[in-house]
Amino acid sequence: LAVLKGSSFVVLGLARSGLATVRALRAAGIACVAWDDNAASRDAAVQAGARVADPATIDWSGITALVISPGIPSTLPVPHPVAVAARAAGKPIICDVELLARAQPEATFVAITGTNGKSTTTALIGHILQQAGLRCQVGGNIGRGALDLDPLGKGGLYVLELSSYQLELLQTFRADIAVWLNITPDHIDRHGDIPGYVAAKRNIFQRQRAGDCAVIGIEDEPSREIEREIAARPGIACIPVALDRPVANGISYRAGVLVDADGYTVDFADVLTLPGDHNGQNAACAWAVCRWLDLPREAIVAGMKTYAGLPHRQERVAAVGNIVYINDSKATNADATARALSSYDDIYWILGGQAKEGGVAPLASYFDRIRHAFLIGEATELFAGQFEGKLPYSRCGDLQSALDAAHALAQREAQGEGKGPAVVLLSPACASWDQWKSYEHRGDAFRAMARALPGAEILGR
Ligand code: ADP
Repeated sequence: LAVLKGSSFVVLGLARSGLATVRALRAAGIACVAWDDNAASRDAAVQAGARVADPATIDWSGITALVISPGIPSTLPVPHPVAVAARAAGKPIICDVELLARAQPEATFVAITGTNGKSTTTALIGHILQQAGLRCQVGGNIGRGALDLDPLGKGGLYVLELSSYQLELLQTFRADIAVWLNITPDHIDRHGDIPGYVAAKRNIFQRQRAGDCAVIGIEDEPSREIEREIAARPGIACIPVALDRPVANGISYRAGVLVDADGYTVDFADVLTLPGDHNGQNAACAWAVCRWLDLPREAIVAGMKTYAGLPHRQERVAAVGNIVYINDSKATNADATARALSSYDDIYWILGGQAKEGGVAPLASYFDRIRHAFLIGEATELFAGQFEGKLPYSRCGDLQSALDAAHALAQREAQGEGKGPAVVLLSPACASWDQWKSYEHRGDAFRAMARALPGAEILGR
């Protein structure tokens, strides 16, 4: 961050990324004042050497910018008072990724956004590049905060997952390669409406210039519109990625097979860490990025085949006989759960928690794959009502009881010679907060419980 010497920042929000920002600024000898509404987070920042001060006492005249955590609203629905103060003082509001971009003007930036699949695509690209021996760091909204990443300089590659909130807080950042996966309604509260949400995400293409690359999934109408617009920009290599149909100058994928623009095909159907069409989209986008970076095809294929997957996303955690236990705790809404349900045929489904609007009604087209549903948490009665007369279900209360019941039934019905592969799947379609601290907490518990089943073989890490 040495290039920022002489600047002075207010850092608001001191969780993972904010703390990394404070540490990096301090290490570079750059002045910063830190704040978080949570006292424990403030203490952690003090430990990291930060000067913590009540923002009401800040003299904004000497401040360069407010660096805000993407989790804190700077506009809608109600802007944080510190953001209001910064704006009143005419100071820019930025995020850690913007600082990284200013500090690393010579590095190459690969930025990934979309409603779903960001983390998977980011991790997959990072894995392929690292395995191919490139100097590359992965972070942003996933894993390490942007300013926790090592300085790479010229020839180095940053692979960054960017949420709509981070994208709103960029001012000079330019993506050498921008990946846009898809867009569906989500986080509307913070962006006002769907156009607001799309507008925030579109910042990923802002400032791209001739010679840069845009990889765009075209499975929904807003994304197709964006693809048409970016394709018309002179000098930008726009690579569309499509499901189930060939696409001019783009990449298509179908049932685990990817077809490049030049007809080259890659069969990754046996990569168990990338199940389903949605992962086809992620893998095809990763392919496009790596090809644009001129990686040899064999290196990309090798990287895909050794991709370990991310925890809590259709994560294969254990097997008992031919029944596989899958942790999809990250699926906190019906849309994400639909991806998991579409990936398997015989499903013993554990779900529930704090329901989202609409509950499981949008999942009706998958009900014929469900052998039995096991309900937990607050959503139990809502979901029971939505399942009534359509599929067999049980009220289980908590996760351990649900797993025990699912395990017993699956082993009785689906185990044995001549039976196809069945899965016991935790894909809650709900937030976790009624019974757990987070979706990770819920998924970690499920993994441990599944691995503790009698006769369980441990899968994955
Ligand atoms: P994000 O980081 O955008 O939340 P993840 O890679 O963590 O995305 O995946 C979260 C969930 O979203 C997955 O468990 C899966 O259900 C779903 N998903 C993943 N990739 C896609 C995709 N390309 N399209 C639609 N849904 C996806």
